[in-house]
Amino acid sequence: KVSRLYESEAQVPNGSPENWNQSYLNIAILVHVKLQSAFDLLSELKKIEQIMGRNLQKEKWSPRCIDLDILYIEGVQFDTEQLTVPHKELFRRPFAYLPLRDVLPRLEMNEPTWYKKYLISGHSEFNTHVSENHFLPIIVGVINVTSDSFSDGNKYLNKENLLSTT
Ligand code: AMP
Repeated sequence: KVSRLYESEAQVPNGSPENWNQSYLNIAILVHVKLQSAFDLLSELKKIEQIMGRNLQKEKWSPRCIDLDILYIEGVQFDTEQLTVPHKELFRRPFAYLPLRDVLPRLEMNEPTWYKKYLISGHSEFNTHVSENHFLPIIVGVINVTSDSFSDGNKYLNKENLLSTT
């Protein structure tokens, strides 16, 4: 299951460079995984972050292209130095909690104090809100607006190719 797409302001320490203050897109996905433990999942997520170009040498709060976290695992709760489940900041970060609620509406945890206010106003801390500008498509179609159709012949397709595609 995939949540709606949320937008939020960057969470940065006071005195951070102006260009760190960029807004982020946030999403939660609910997945079934065939892994031995949550630690294996964490290491898989780190691999994906690396492939996608996350630079872990950079400062913790600077802009990053991707940040994958484990928010919640049904029936699992533990706190170690390397990994905490549910995520330690889940209740303090509307940009994590709200997408999680989308995919797990019956979350077996007490609601954070700010949640009711969010339901009324549609906005929360870090100006977290469902994005008006970005969304995930439900249906994707292609409209060909040129005379250049690739399915029934076009100016780049010679007769030979046309025969091989029919
Ligand atoms: P960040 O990339 O800034 O989200 O920080 C990731 C680090 O936080 C990881 O290297 C983990 O060791 C640690 N961590 C602790 N709990 C979690 C969690 N629930 N999900 C992801 N990372 C976690």
